[in-house]
Amino acid sequence: MPVDAHIHFANLFQRDPEFPGRFSSAAIASCGASHDPEEFAWSEAFRESLRAGGGPLPRLSYGIHPQAPRMEQAEFLDSLARGGRIDVIGEAGFDFFGDRPEFTRGPETLAIQRRAFEFQLDLALKTGLPLLVHLRKAMDLAFEYARPLSRLPAVIFHSWPGTPGEALALLGRGVEAFFSFGAIVINGHKRAASSLAAIPASTILSETDAPWQPPRGEAFCRFEAIGPIVAAMAAIRLLDAEAMEAQIAANWVRAFGGGS
Ligand SMILES: [Zn+2]
Repeated sequence: MPVDAHIHFANLFQRDPEFPGRFSSAAIASCGASHDPEEFAWSEAFRESLRAGGGPLPRLSYGIHPQAPRMEQAEFLDSLARGGRIDVIGEAGFDFFGDRPEFTRGPETLAIQRRAFEFQLDLALKTGLPLLVHLRKAMDLAFEYARPLSRLPAVIFHSWPGTPGEALALLGRGVEAFFSFGAIVINGHKRAASSLAAIPASTILSETDAPWQPPRGEAFCRFEAIGPIVAAMAAIRLLDAEAMEAQIAANWVRAFGGGS
């Protein structure tokens, strides 16, 4: 079964209103991300709608995204995590890509993003839930937090932005890290390919991040991109696509705590 470790169902629905019907028969193991209560309600209802079909039910994540680090979300997130309504905390992390003023690294933006990240890291430690991490131009912070991260059952780095050496160093610091790759492997992103080629097979995950991160030339990413993404990953790992898919499915069970 293909694995989509990170997808935004409600955002995808806005771009592709026909997707739910196709998704229900696609048999993809997935984790749907939400970052505000309305989006989460949509995702929960979507998951319910799939129950009748008998296919795999998506896992759900909820996080305070570093691009919108609003602490008003904290109470809601806390109630979801403690109430067993989410499987993963995140996306949580740091974004200093610089494409907007609030994503430029400075004392104030760093302090704001730290507050949101530390709250979520702490909640993951208290609840024992895995953490889904978003990092852009902030790799040093992953190492700064490596010690508490190493106490979590799993840390999933979505759209892994680092080098092979950084991936191996995080594993060396005892972090139960998983590195997830999306359409950038189709788009010929060199660093992603070199990381994917070098990391242990047991740490690899696949994702679409749909509707974001489209394959080059497409207006948005469809959930069906998971097939070409896994095929491109297999080519980089010198495996056939079935073997790659099976490896990722085994990793999914470890990262997301079993089940589908
Ligand atoms: Zn995302």
